[in-house]
Order: sequence, then C-alpha cells, then structure tokens
Amino acid sequence: MHEATLAENILNIALDAAEKNHATKIFKVGLTLGEMAGVEVEALTLSFDVLKKNSPAEDAALVINRVPLSATCNKCGKNFRLEHYNFFCPECDGILILQSGRELLVDFVDCE
Ligand SMILES: [Zn+2]
Repeated sequence: MHEATLAENILNIALDAAEKNHATKIFKVGLTLGEMAGVEVEALTLSFDVLKKNSPAEDAALVINRVPLSATCNKCGKNFRLEHYNFFCPECDGILILQSGRELLVDFVDCE
C-alpha cells in the first residue's frame, strides 16, 4: 500500500500548509509526478479521497502534473525522451543519465 502512505504524506503537507495560512478549506493540491516515480495515479487519488474525509481537505482535488522521462547522453550530450526504459544512447551507445521523470513533489496547496 505504497500509494496510501503517499496519499497520507500529501494530505499532511496540504493540512500543514493550510494551518500555516490560517486556512480552513483546501481546494486543490498540485502534484508533480514523474512517469517513473512508481506511483499508480488511480490508487493515489483513491487513497487521497478516502483520507481527506472530515478534514479541511474534504473537497480538495489532486491536480497532477506528469513529468515525462528525459535523459542526457554521457558521451554526446544529446537529450532524449526516454521510452521503453532504454538507457543507451541510440546515436552513440553512450549511457543515458536520467534528468527527469522520478520526481514526486507537492507543488502548491490552494486554500482559503
Ligand atoms: Zn550519445
């Protein structure tokens, strides 16, 4: 139940932010989520919807911004969008270094 733990963390961050802003209601929670962060969006949203009940985030929606995988070749320096988990440069066989796609961040908390 990785997603349930995650949803709990996200909710706690949102509730913290609301408290700091003396807000009583949370409308939106923005997330940046890499394609390779290993998170099932559906499971995460479901867990969040269950956990948020009877909290200031009761009506809050998760706004998820998916970040595609991108990588840079360590030999020729070219940038690629990674597909099929191929970690070798198609041009020179160098090794691709992941630049984005693993992030999991709370971007913003929209509250009142
Ligand atoms: Zn290369």
